[in-house]
Amino acid sequence: AKVAGKNCYRFYSRAMDLAVERRVNLEHELRGAWDRGELSLVYQPVYRLADRTMVGAEALLRWNHPRHGQVAPSVFIDVAEQSGLIETLGPQVLRAACSEAVRWQQLRPSAEPLSVAVNVSSRQLRSGGELVQVVADCLRDTGLEPERLHLELTETAVIGDEVHASEMLAQLRETGIKVLLDDFGTGFSGLSHLRRVPVDGVKIDRSFIADILRDPDDLALTSAIIAMAHSLGITVIAEGVEKAGQYALLRERGCDQAQGYWLGQPVPANEFLALLG
Ligand code: C2E
Ligand code: CA
Ligand code: CA
Ligand code: CA
Repeated sequence: AKVAGKNCYRFYSRAMDLAVERRVNLEHELRGAWDRGELSLVYQPVYRLADRTMVGAEALLRWNHPRHGQVAPSVFIDVAEQSGLIETLGPQVLRAACSEAVRWQQLRPSAEPLSVAVNVSSRQLRSGGELVQVVADCLRDTGLEPERLHLELTETAVIGDEVHASEMLAQLRETGIKVLLDDFGTGFSGLSHLRRVPVDGVKIDRSFIADILRDPDDLALTSAIIAMAHSLGITVIAEGVEKAGQYALLRERGCDQAQGYWLGQPVPANEFLALLG
């Protein structure tokens, strides 16, 4: 057993070296990826449940690596956060998404304005005043109406340092933008948390939506989130709607908005424009 243990150790150690090496390479390659045009945004439509009208889209980052092809966002976003690259990448993403949203409005000036949701990492939130300045500059330079920009922050990012986070969120909301709590329900923060953190909306994590048709507990939890959020005047968005039945049930339970493969896949900017056509 001892010998096997030793071999195991060696094996894991080598595997770890490889993982570290790959990470270092990815970090190096990610550094110039935006300028080389390897990074782009896709847009996933968000619908109002009551009348199935599109009300906006979430911008999601994609990395088309010259050798590896599409790199999973969970992998490269993590690399960007750990390395600090997110502090240059984040503002670039924000600008690109806001400019795109201005284009949507130019294309259909008399239609109901569409919002654009942009994911913000916990590291960007921690950079504090900088983020508020980045958002204010972006709104000024692109001319996007502030209320059409929605920033998505994960529940866990906000829990870490509640006092600081609440202050940041208050400052962000003073610019007129809306703040959404992403992956809601996964952070174990409990519903009471909503009272103390100033947000405009919550996005129920897709792990809860996945089973609402079969699991009464997941449905009960989802319904409780909707009721609690509404009592506080907070909008509720369901993620990961993959079936007509989920859509119908969420609508019946009074959920406000939804996104998911059943409603629309994330698509490149030009395809999203065509959807509006
Ligand atoms: P997220 O913010 O929770 O984004 C939703 C994810 O669910 C996206 O994965 C989307 O493609 C996927 N999705 C949408 N509808 C469905 C569905 O019906 N079923 C299933 N199974 N999945 C669905 P994606 O694009 O791989 O992004 C993963 C995560 O990477 C995002 O999770 C977000 O946390 C992060 N991310 C993506 N773009 C950015 C970015 O620009 N900045 C930051 N900081 N994070 C980003
Ligand atoms: Ca999100
Ligand atoms: Ca989410
Ligand atoms: Ca998620």
